[in-house]
Amino acid sequence: MRNSRPVRNALRIIGLVAVSCSAHAQPLGNSTPAAPSFPDLMAPEKSFAAPSLRNCPCSQQNANILAKRGENATLALESLYRQIEEFSHPTTRSLLWTKQRNLESDELIQESIDAGRDPAPPDGTGPATAAPAVPNSLGFTNGGDCKITISVSSPCLAEILRLHEEVHRRACKKFFDSNYNFTVIDYRAKMRMVDYLNEHVEAYSAEIRAIGEQARYWVATRCTF
Ligand SMILES: [Zn+2]
Repeated sequence: MRNSRPVRNALRIIGLVAVSCSAHAQPLGNSTPAAPSFPDLMAPEKSFAAPSLRNCPCSQQNANILAKRGENATLALESLYRQIEEFSHPTTRSLLWTKQRNLESDELIQESIDAGRDPAPPDGTGPATAAPAVPNSLGFTNGGDCKITISVSSPCLAEILRLHEEVHRRACKKFFDSNYNFTVIDYRAKMRMVDYLNEHVEAYSAEIRAIGEQARYWVATRCTF
């Protein structure tokens, strides 16, 4: 399947977040534990954190919230890949973005997140224990003036969401920069739906990349800052 690799990589990165601080959240003694070995992710030439994320406090709370957001982003990608298939047929690929299609797309993403985070227990006994979700709609880019709104208090999560919205903001700016006297109320109104879905893939991928960078930074610094 053409998209299984990025999703697998995303899941591995999210696993990294989950273990990074819990495995190392202990006082520094004379012998500090060795960081887990993730050969391809820990290559020395790779930078460990996006500069904008370097000041995130390394707390278990941050690790959990980022791992959860990473899970959500991965499930969102799976939904988006399915939606892209649906908007790639000869009869659907020329369809334009509309508010209604955008709403339906967001609902499908939310369904994918809800289904993924609350799986039925394999043996059918007892309630599934779902970790609290990071709601999917805390970041927003106004398609008219390209302004980003982020509604979370955690600076670390806010930065992850900003990186997502930055993808939309750039697309929005690019549209209006080259259509300065063009009277449209939303940059997406002239886009094909399939192109917007791909933009959204890029936005969620930016989140996952940043979460992975933060996780690698935590592992590398053994959460001692
Ligand atoms: Zn988005």
